Amino acid sequence: MKIAVLPGDGIGKEIVAQAVRVLRRLGLPLELAEAPVGGAGYEAAGDPLPAATLVLAREADAILFGAIGGPQYDALPRDQRPERGLLRLRKELGLFANLRPAQVFADLAQASSLRPELVAGLDVLIVRELTGDIYFGEPRGITTLANGEREGVNTMRYRESEIRRIARVAFEAARRRGKRLCSVDKANVLETTELWRQVVSELGKDYADVQLSHMYVDNCAMQLVRNPKQFDVIVTGNLFGDILSDEASMLTGSIGMLPSASLDERGKGLYEPIHGSAPDIAGKGLANPLATILSAAMMLRYSLGHVAEADRIEGAVRKVLRQGLRTADIYTDGCRKVGTQEMGDAVVAAL
Ligand code: NAD
Repeated sequence: MKIAVLPGDGIGKEIVAQAVRVLRRLGLPLELAEAPVGGAGYEAAGDPLPAATLVLAREADAILFGAIGGPQYDALPRDQRPERGLLRLRKELGLFANLRPAQVFADLAQASSLRPELVAGLDVLIVRELTGDIYFGEPRGITTLANGEREGVNTMRYRESEIRRIARVAFEAARRRGKRLCSVDKANVLETTELWRQVVSELGKDYADVQLSHMYVDNCAMQLVRNPKQFDVIVTGNLFGDILSDEASMLTGSIGMLPSASLDERGKGLYEPIHGSAPDIAGKGLANPLATILSAAMMLRYSLGHVAEADRIEGAVRKVLRQGLRTADIYTDGCRKVGTQEMGDAVVAAL
């Protein structure tokens, strides 16, 4: 199995190095090859997505990504900025399915803005469609009407093939988890999502082992803060998913803990922590590597078919947290504060 390792900028290098150590510890036949992206790509080849990096990413079975960006690149022309590297990579590889788990490890429940008993043990996966919906639908724009008043237009569009392929990803994910899928729409008001509900229901017949339910997006936003543990997997469109996945990630209270995946039609994916390159702590050995280590676990589960090894990594992270080890971002009184390397050491030892 070939893995493209793209550490990127800032803390990217530090956290990816720890995830790579964890992967190597598993003893699987993994071929890891590293390449620059983002600001590092610009420095190496004058391009945030150098041609050689794109080739490596295309040929790989999966991509482990760190983070990109930094203040030193903010003055570059737009197409040379680090962010363009990631956006182009997603587009070039056709990564249409965004998987964002919001997990609260029991020992970190105090970090949430909700009461600990509401979130302790929370494990929700949000599957968001990433390349369609009102963000891309035509017609769009701001025009001036005959009477001189301005009007803004965006168009919510989904083809049934687009709905079916994201729903399939979600059903497959539910199958590997708690076997419950909640599809989120606004079918009472929006025809686009009425079609969404029909297509998801039709596909549900192929997944008799997965319990399918439907929920309106306004209710879902409420239920996520009322009783988030009721959910296993949520699938929704680009717009609703954008909002709900940010809401769900904040339930956990810790940006340094959350992994994500973006998948293509064949299940190949790019795996990355949801946080950025944290220039304020870069190079200081302070960054929390756990989101990246958990991203590596997702890679094993969703792209490489090694579910048992993914479970092992997640178990090792749980164990380390239970031992009271904390990087500064998740530190609370009475725990032992550790740096990036020591946290990596502990996960490797727990494995
Ligand atoms: P950020 O996520 O990098 O940092 C926000 C805060 O969280 C900072 O205080 C940082 O120190 C802290 N933090 C983030 N990750 C952490 C970790 N693993 N351990 C401990 N603390 C952590 O967001 P920002 O400061 O808004 O952006 C910094 C740069 O990152 C910008 O250039 C931005 O464009 C880029 N960015 C990249 C991505 C990505 O690569 N996908 C995502 C978001 C932002």
